[in-house]
Amino acid sequence: MEQDQLFERLWSGAAPMEEWTQAVSNGATTTVADNIITVHSTYFCGSVTAIRTSAGLVLIDTANAALAAQTFAAVRRWDDSPVHTVIYTHGHIDHTGGIQVIDEEADARGFARPRIIAHRDVRRRMERYKTTQGFNSIVQGQQFNYPDYTYPVGQRQPDEVYDDTLSLIIGGERLELFHGRGETDDATFVWLPERRVLASGDFVIWMFPNAGNPRKVQRYAAEWAATLRRMQALQPEVLIPGHGPVIFGAARVRQVLDDGATLLESLVAQTLALMNRGCTLDEVLRGVSAPAELLAKPYLQPKYDDPEFVVRAIWQLYGGWFDGDPAHLKPATAAELAAELAALAGGAGRLAERAAALAEDGQTRLAAHLAEFAADAAPGDKAIQATRAMVLERCMERETSLMGRAFLGVYQRDAKARSAG
Ligand SMILES: [Zn+2]
Repeated sequence: MEQDQLFERLWSGAAPMEEWTQAVSNGATTTVADNIITVHSTYFCGSVTAIRTSAGLVLIDTANAALAAQTFAAVRRWDDSPVHTVIYTHGHIDHTGGIQVIDEEADARGFARPRIIAHRDVRRRMERYKTTQGFNSIVQGQQFNYPDYTYPVGQRQPDEVYDDTLSLIIGGERLELFHGRGETDDATFVWLPERRVLASGDFVIWMFPNAGNPRKVQRYAAEWAATLRRMQALQPEVLIPGHGPVIFGAARVRQVLDDGATLLESLVAQTLALMNRGCTLDEVLRGVSAPAELLAKPYLQPKYDDPEFVVRAIWQLYGGWFDGDPAHLKPATAAELAAELAALAGGAGRLAERAAALAEDGQTRLAAHLAEFAADAAPGDKAIQATRAMVLERCMERETSLMGRAFLGVYQRDAKARSAG
C-alpha cells in the first residue's frame, strides 16, 4: 500500500527516484500477477522478475553481483523450487552479474544449473568485455566515480540464443522474446501474452533513454523508438521496466511507451533532417531541440544521459566521426594549437583570465575551451590549473545529467590536484 502511494508520487513527479531507491533498499517485492513477482533493491541495478511455473522458476535477469544474494533471497522467500530458465534482457552486468549466486545455489542443493537464454549478441558483448576490460574499468570508474574500479567479466554465457523472436512454453507458461536494439545491440523484451505483462529490459528505465553515453559503444535511438512502438502494439496491461517500479494499467503503460518513442523519434528526425541538408555536427547540435514537454515527464527526465549526447550518437551512427570542420579531419596536436593561441593572446595566463571571466558570466561552454587551451599551453602552471578547476566546477553546476557531471568531474579533480601538486 505504501509502495502504491509512493508510486503515485513518482508518477506525478512529486517524489524523486532517490526516494524510491531508499524505499526498496532492503529488497522489495512487487506482485505483478498470479505467480509473478519483481524484486528491486535500488534504481541503479536492473530489476529481477520471477515467474512460477510447473517446471520451476523462470527468472528475467539476475541483478548485479553485489545485490544478487539479497535479491535472490527475496525470490526464495516467495518460492523454493529450482530455477529452470534465466533470460538475460541484455549483457550489462547489472542484469547478468547475479548468475553466479544462482548457479552456486543450484550446485549446493543438487539442482541442475538453469539454462540461460538471450539474444545472440549477448555472447559477442561478453567477449568484447574481455578484450576491452581495461578501458571499461576506466570508463565505468569515471561515470560512477568508483576509484580503482575493475570491470567484472566472465559471467556465464547463454546456453541458447535467438535472432529476432523466440516463443517458449515453460511449465505451462507462454513467453515470447523479441529482439531490439536500443541502449545495446543485444536487447530482449519479454512478453507474456496470456497475462498481457511485458518486461521491457532497459528499453524503459524511468529516465530519459540512455542512448548517447559519451564513452560507450554505439547506441540506437531510431531502433529504440521502433522497439517501443512494437511493445505498444502488443497492448500490455503491466510494464516491468529494466529499472524503476512496475507500471500497472494499459493507459499508463501506453503513455510511457508512446512518450519515450515520440521523444526519440523527434531527436532522430530533427538530426537526420539537418544532416540531409548538409549541416555540420556543430550546426546539428545547435539546431536540434528535444521536446520540453516530454523531457518534463517524471519518467523521461534527462538526469542520467543528455539529449545533446543522443544527437551526437545519431550523427555518429549515420555519419561517422568526422564533424564537417576541415580543421578536424587531420588536426594539429592540442599542445601546438594551444601554444599558438596563447602566443596570440599574450600568454596562457590571458587565456585563463578570459576563461574565468566567461565562467563567472555563465558562458561555461566557451570558458571550458579557453581553460583547456591555457592548460595545454602551460601544463605545469598551478594557477592556470586552479582556474581550470574553477571553470570545470561551473560547467558541472550547469549539467543536469549524471554522465555530464561525472565526466567533467574527472577533469575537475585532475585540475585541482595539479593546482596543488
Ligand atoms: Zn540496466
